[in-house]
Amino acid sequence: MLLPALASPPDKVALRFPERELTYEQLAAEAREVAHGLRGRRRVAVWARSTPETCVAIVGALLAGVPVVPLNPKIGERELAHVLGDSEPDLVIDDELPSGPGGDLPEPDGEAPALIIYTSGTTGPPKGVVLPRRALASNLDAVAEAWAWTGDDVVVHGLPLFHVHGLGLGVLGVLRRGGTVHHLGTFTVAKAAAAVEGGGTVVFGVPTMYHRLVNEPEHAGAFRRARLLVSGSAPLPAAVHERVEALTGQRVVERYGMTETLMNTSVRADGDRRPGTVGLPLPGVEVRVVGDEPGEVEVRGPNLFLEYLNRPDATRDAFRDGWFRTGDLAVVEPDGYLRLVGRRATDLIKSGGYKIGAGEIENALLEHPSVAEVAVTGEPDEDLGERVVAWVVAQGEPPAPDELGDHVARLLAPHKRPRAVRYLDALPRNDMGKVLKRELRPQ
Ligand code: ATP
Ligand code: MG
Repeated sequence: MLLPALASPPDKVALRFPERELTYEQLAAEAREVAHGLRGRRRVAVWARSTPETCVAIVGALLAGVPVVPLNPKIGERELAHVLGDSEPDLVIDDELPSGPGGDLPEPDGEAPALIIYTSGTTGPPKGVVLPRRALASNLDAVAEAWAWTGDDVVVHGLPLFHVHGLGLGVLGVLRRGGTVHHLGTFTVAKAAAAVEGGGTVVFGVPTMYHRLVNEPEHAGAFRRARLLVSGSAPLPAAVHERVEALTGQRVVERYGMTETLMNTSVRADGDRRPGTVGLPLPGVEVRVVGDEPGEVEVRGPNLFLEYLNRPDATRDAFRDGWFRTGDLAVVEPDGYLRLVGRRATDLIKSGGYKIGAGEIENALLEHPSVAEVAVTGEPDEDLGERVVAWVVAQGEPPAPDELGDHVARLLAPHKRPRAVRYLDALPRNDMGKVLKRELRPQ
């Protein structure tokens, strides 16, 4: 059963949103009604606003065994047409939740599709990832083991409910344990701090949220009480990690996951939280790095998706002998910890005969006091094949490009020196705070 915890103490709060709270009893009753209303449907989509109704609709679909596609409520027209055309739901649930006559709800098969979640579209058009119940159930339990996550935890976050981070971990993961979701509606550091002060034990965030925490130190003290501060979805710069620790006394637990595999690795709750690393493979998940380092991360285990919807070609290309090729590049530290350095598609720069990971250069640049944000890309170069380019959001007066080049050459190696530095007011990012490198092209 995906959500055994619906049998939690009935008067315990399952979902706390700014507009209303639902106990486990209320959630179970409302979700069952939705489930009855959905019986016989082939596939449904849900406008995944950050509301309790979204959770009720999705839990209802899961109870009915009807695959559900969560839709980004801010999706643009073209992408919406793509997602609806691709997934062909026979019903789109908006504010009005369906209801239907009672009766037994059969327990769906573990291999049956439960969720169809579109990837973030960081490297290309979003792909529909078909996730079976088996992947969700096994992965949520593996994460719980690593984090000593129980029904006593109150998980605080403001993440969107149409990706695996906010929906998978941040709602279904909590309900499976029988704990409480404290969703902030929209994230602010002040609201998160107040939620922790009000009893929140675990905070889920993406790196931009920790960046904001660091910039609002007046609220940081509240986070001392949390049991775990977790970051994922994009790289957490080591400099931000260290600043969070200085302000809150807490090191951040980083975990690495993706839509296709759910969570792959994490630092354990009692493990060594080293900045720049995403920890060890989760229980039951096999992770290997193939080829010369930095090599590509491949994953195998019960956490894997079934297929990309309507994309047999992409599904085939994504596997090698049963291992899923993540497209992410990493090095493995002597104790097995994974250190991600970027993505094969955008972050592997081949320059002057060297293979250079963009992430390493980004981290070095972030250590410079005048660099607020940075993205490193490769551009064609007649001499070197590709040259390293840094796109920088400056803090204060932009430094001379040579100064940043020297800084990297001194910290890392001369061949990693950015050959061009371009200043921007902001980096292009998607709703998870991920930098869209394909939009960073030479003018
Ligand atoms: P698309 O596949 O459409 O290009 P996407 O890969 O960004 O988009 P998601 O599945 O939402 O879509 O994100 C998974 C990716 O996020 C991973 O492959 C990895 O590159 C990145 N990621 C996740 N967690 C971390 C982390 N802790 N540190 C660095 N990168 C991370
Ligand atoms: Mg991806």
